[in-house]
Amino acid sequence: MNAPLRNPSPILPEVAEELDRFIALRRHFHQNPELSTQERETARRIAELLGEWGYEVETGIGGEGVVGTLRLGKGGKAVGIRADFDALPITEATGFPHTSRNPGVMHACGHDGHATILLAAARSLARRKRFDGTLRLIFQPAEEISVGARSMIRDRLFERFPVDAVFGLHNWPGVPEGVFGFVDGPAMAAVDKAVIKIVGRGGHGAAPHETVDPVLAAAHVVTALQSLVSRNVPPLEAAVVTVGSIHGGTASNVIPDSVELQATIRSFSPEVRRLLSERLPALVKAQAEAFGATAEVEYRLGMPAVVNHAGPSQFARVTGLSVFGATGVEPNLAPRTASEDFAYFLEERPGAFLFVGAGDGPPLHSPQYDFNDALIAPAATYWTRLAERFLA
Ligand SMILES: [Zn+2]
Ligand SMILES: [Zn+2]
Repeated sequence: MNAPLRNPSPILPEVAEELDRFIALRRHFHQNPELSTQERETARRIAELLGEWGYEVETGIGGEGVVGTLRLGKGGKAVGIRADFDALPITEATGFPHTSRNPGVMHACGHDGHATILLAAARSLARRKRFDGTLRLIFQPAEEISVGARSMIRDRLFERFPVDAVFGLHNWPGVPEGVFGFVDGPAMAAVDKAVIKIVGRGGHGAAPHETVDPVLAAAHVVTALQSLVSRNVPPLEAAVVTVGSIHGGTASNVIPDSVELQATIRSFSPEVRRLLSERLPALVKAQAEAFGATAEVEYRLGMPAVVNHAGPSQFARVTGLSVFGATGVEPNLAPRTASEDFAYFLEERPGAFLFVGAGDGPPLHSPQYDFNDALIAPAATYWTRLAERFLA
């Protein structure tokens, strides 16, 4: 079968007609960013708009979380779509007219865009009324500090607002603009952290034989850690071990007592994650001992991987193909080594996380980054059609 061509105009008229309003809303959110757990005004605006459009609205879920529910017909199915809306502690350097008015706080991950996309979809779904079942729009706070999803789940999100599947998306600079990217299985990495202290015995730099030099031991530890991925992780699995911080010593002629290192560890499968959590401390300790030093390793398990479920993942992909055609879809995008707390939703319910290309431009979390407003129309169209297909 030939791949379908891109539709001449896949953007829904209900989305196109109100696009200017949603671009203005996105820039309003951008100008008024709020840090994780402090998103009160953004949540208030989201709740107000959903209420105006006929949604039942619940606020204060897991902090500033908001859920909008719309029921149509007698269908028994329910679909959840999630958007995050918190900002980062970054000083904006875009120089755009809609630059942040909140000094030191910036929407540098595009969560202003994610929330706007879901609101534009909320509006179009409420106007079109072409589904049969229950639509749940989940606006999640505090994604950047990995707290929001868990807080909403702890607040019994899925018991109070049951869904058969839950979907979410992230814009992605570097993926062609407006192209929807889909990943089966692990889509974003688990992130863990190791805090390492190499303890030796300090002394005069001129008499190293009278000391146990933790700087030399630390240098060997950094080198040895690079063997974890190359020699322990199976070659067809992916993982990252990055030592991003190393501190020790105060002067060229003083051997310090200790050196501290910090590493981030990224993995996609539970097996590799467990392997690294066992091998890293063992390797560090043995390496330190080889130089007469000792090592203390604190291994902090962070967020799990975002693991897409097979059925919803394929449903999301087929929706993309049916709306935008083959040229608008990357059916097998490579997984991202960043992390996302949507992972916790996928541990609770079936679902999928997908990406929409933001085109060329500064990366996420850069002070030069700005959400690409050209994504609002296609992504709002996508969510509208996904919900309508799921609740057909
Ligand atoms: Zn981010
Ligand atoms: Zn983000």
